Amino acid sequence: MRVMKFGGTSVGKPERMHQVSQLITRDDEPTIVVLSALSGTTNSLVEISNCLSSGDNEGATAKTEALEKHYQQFIIDLIKSPELLSKAQDVLKEHFEFLRITQRVSLSDALNKDILAQGELMSTKLFSLYLEQEKIEHALIPALEFMKLDINEEPDLVLIEEKIKVVLAHHPSKKLFITQGYICRNVKGEVDNLKRGGSDYTASLIAAAVKATVCEIWTDIDGMHNNDPRVVDKTVAIEQLSFDEAAELAYFGAKILHPTCIWPAQQENIPVKLLNTMQPTAAGTVIKKEAGSVGVKAVAAKDGIIAIKIKSSRMLLAYGFLRKIFEVFEKYKTPIDMITTSEVAVSVTIDTDEHLNEIIAELSNIASIEVERAQTIVSIVGNEIAKTDAILKKLFDAIEEVPVTMVSYGGSHHNISLLIPSTFKTKTLQLVNKGLFNL
Ligand code: ASP
Ligand code: MG
Repeated sequence: MRVMKFGGTSVGKPERMHQVSQLITRDDEPTIVVLSALSGTTNSLVEISNCLSSGDNEGATAKTEALEKHYQQFIIDLIKSPELLSKAQDVLKEHFEFLRITQRVSLSDALNKDILAQGELMSTKLFSLYLEQEKIEHALIPALEFMKLDINEEPDLVLIEEKIKVVLAHHPSKKLFITQGYICRNVKGEVDNLKRGGSDYTASLIAAAVKATVCEIWTDIDGMHNNDPRVVDKTVAIEQLSFDEAAELAYFGAKILHPTCIWPAQQENIPVKLLNTMQPTAAGTVIKKEAGSVGVKAVAAKDGIIAIKIKSSRMLLAYGFLRKIFEVFEKYKTPIDMITTSEVAVSVTIDTDEHLNEIIAELSNIASIEVERAQTIVSIVGNEIAKTDAILKKLFDAIEEVPVTMVSYGGSHHNISLLIPSTFKTKTLQLVNKGLFNL
């Protein structure tokens, strides 16, 4: 069994859906296809729900109408058979009627998630009708029947495995299955989701659940690149990454892959391939257990970082001080990204200011606190990076003019992270591209 996931832009136009239908039937290996919503749809649904939560029902209605218009044209361009077109119209009627009903009742958290789920429900139903038109045998399997969250709102892989087996067993003669990315049910049985961009995560979870041979993530770029193509002129696709390297890169900014999507594939040792719908024969990037080559492979940057410097002379020779600090972050469920310590101070970074005020207030009881906003983490990722010849010298020579505020090295064998003011991000990525990649 193979899993193939297609993102919003890969299904966002009728001709792209056609391309997808060809890619998923390129051989007869049994395949589960995971689809995102058509590009832009989830953003529109978020806007609709924001309108509703601020009491702007007129705004919600206008946005719903605009979205419906877009879909009406989409199905006309996609489906030629009158009988199937009428079925596609019924699909739109059902889902847009639902959206209109939500505008007449009061918005709850559960209803909000129901609204967000409409995009994937529509994209898969419309794609299934398209396959029917093309006479491509398949089964549409509802993700809501097997994608389950546990009590901690994390995917319950054991339950997912159990449930998907039952669902697949309903279609013993089928080899091609279509399902929704992103959406799932929580322990209360309500519709929920795996957070924005979560379709990659769905694909990886399904791959792990069915012990797939490969998890293919199809997007509109030819794999993960060594640097951010929006910032530097020249980048190259990375051939191979280990799971750990990919997880670091995905978290630290490489937008192509959702960071959480690595662990399920890693747990079952299933290779993840990043491929390009627009250039299906390009090699892309493969992520597997082995790193392939030794040395620096990529640099990624993550903006919106807040640095907190925690200073206390009481820390000198004291034990238990770090625990007290960590407990504050734990209490406010705020993950720490980078950390450096000296004998009298600890600096940490976080990527959200949701509970910043409470955290500062509590930390102020035990230490003096300085907060620095608008920071960027630049992360250099590679295999056995410490064994790379003169790596630190090369790096710091290259970025000599950048005012680095924190350095983290040695936490893993494949990462060097720097904290810099966000205003220096472009410069830093360009200098690293020259100094470490000779590009
Ligand atoms: N449609 C969802 C989003 O836009 C999930 C995804 O595309 O991965 O966030
Ligand atoms: Mg996406």
